[in-house]
Amino acid sequence: MNNKINILGVNIDNLSFNDTFEKAKSLIETNETDMIFTPNPEIIMLARNDETFENILNSASICTPDGIGVVYGAKILKTPLVERVAGFDLATALIEYASQAGKSIFLFGAAPNIADTAAEKLIEKHSTLKIAGTRNGYFKDEETPEIIEQINQSNADILFACLGAPKQEKWIYENRDKLNVKLALGLGGALDVFAGNVKRAPKIFIKLNLEWFYRLLKQPSRIGRFMALPKFMITVMRSKKIGR
Ligand code: UDP
Repeated sequence: MNNKINILGVNIDNLSFNDTFEKAKSLIETNETDMIFTPNPEIIMLARNDETFENILNSASICTPDGIGVVYGAKILKTPLVERVAGFDLATALIEYASQAGKSIFLFGAAPNIADTAAEKLIEKHSTLKIAGTRNGYFKDEETPEIIEQINQSNADILFACLGAPKQEKWIYENRDKLNVKLALGLGGALDVFAGNVKRAPKIFIKLNLEWFYRLLKQPSRIGRFMALPKFMITVMRSKKIGR
């Protein structure tokens, strides 16, 4: 099954985690630079006020439902999704796959040195993993050509772009024709987690669909961003009522 579910204008793939992973692997074998984005309620709300961003999300080969709010939203709209597919989990599965299949990954994003630490930690865990290169995510627009050159010179198969939304999606979209990578993913704060600077929620929170609550407890300063979740749920309910 591979139908897309439209949630407030953003087309989300209705695929299980395993099917998403299989499709992602097959995209590495095609010639063009395929894009995978991982919208959560906050990203969908951003796209509601930014048509360019909405179109960019909808041009991806895969958009996974990253947050449990997206899964609930689909349920409310009576177009249920198979399951949540967290970008971080997809990235973890691709790292495991890349280390076995000899594919290389470029880590782009986060504060200086974070991507290097993430690379070290990942190689400690997967000794055969090839990290093609790293680049921090704080740069001026005029540095973009040099960053593209660095990524292309590295011969990476996969690009993890971790610049936060909508910066990472826009950067990938605007530069996809110049990039030689086969697959580019927008993965938010994933490098901070791989580097060990930010902890992912314990499994029990993830199982109970409370990862968002754990993150809020750990980083109360994110309250403003978390308000996107109730706003998203209300907007979904309203859109259902008015039938759009
Ligand atoms: N970031 C970046 N460049 C920027 C702004 C942000 O590389 O210009 C990084 C930031 O350091 C962090 C990530 O992008 O590592 C965004 O993390 P956030 O927690 O916002 O992402 P989420 O996972 O919530 O989407």
